[in-house]
Amino acid sequence: MLQWMVDSTIRSRGIRDPRVLRAMESVPRQLFVRPEDASEAFSDRALPLGLGQTISQPYVVALMTELAQFSPGDRVLEIGTGSGYQAAVLAECGAEVFSVERLADLAEKARVRLEELGYPVQIRIGDGAQGWPEHAPYRAILVTAAPQHVPHGLLEQLDVGGRLVVPEGGREGQVLRVYRRTTEGFEVSEHGAVIFVPLR
Ligand code: SAH
Repeated sequence: MLQWMVDSTIRSRGIRDPRVLRAMESVPRQLFVRPEDASEAFSDRALPLGLGQTISQPYVVALMTELAQFSPGDRVLEIGTGSGYQAAVLAECGAEVFSVERLADLAEKARVRLEELGYPVQIRIGDGAQGWPEHAPYRAILVTAAPQHVPHGLLEQLDVGGRLVVPEGGREGQVLRVYRRTTEGFEVSEHGAVIFVPLR
């Protein structure tokens, strides 16, 4: 089923990075959704996690991971742990993963799940807009909840040459943007419309 999910939606929609494709084929998405949604786990849909939050659709997880362009062993920060699925995909790609979640209940469940599956992800409960300065700089930062504008504190925690991937915007619509840190500042590129829950 994971193979089918990757072939039918992820590969066919243009994701090419072999490491990302392999990770998407390996991480058991059905274990990150609510048991009652297990039959939907392989369709390309966001699904509810409870508390008004959602696990992102698999294509968007793959796209954000590909856009982040990190290498195995790099430190990667995720904002919005949610189910832990995106964090697992990052870990499967070889990143050293740090993830911040504001809702303690979701963070705790994700911590247990990732530990049981053997993904070494460090999770902190707190406001992701502040990042996790103790482990900065990061080679990549993935923001998986949408801020109106990317918080400055997060951009500052990016390594030179590193990339921050973020859905920016409000209810009127969000655009997936990549901020690449250069020695002079930031280069920004846009990668289509997306829908995420708001960064609080
Ligand atoms: N990446 C997750 C899905 C993210 S849903 C996954 O793979 O399942 C967005 C998450 O961001 C929610 O869990 C929400 O609680 C969290 N969130 C929203 N605002 C936040 C903030 N300011 N700091 C940290 N987490 C936040």
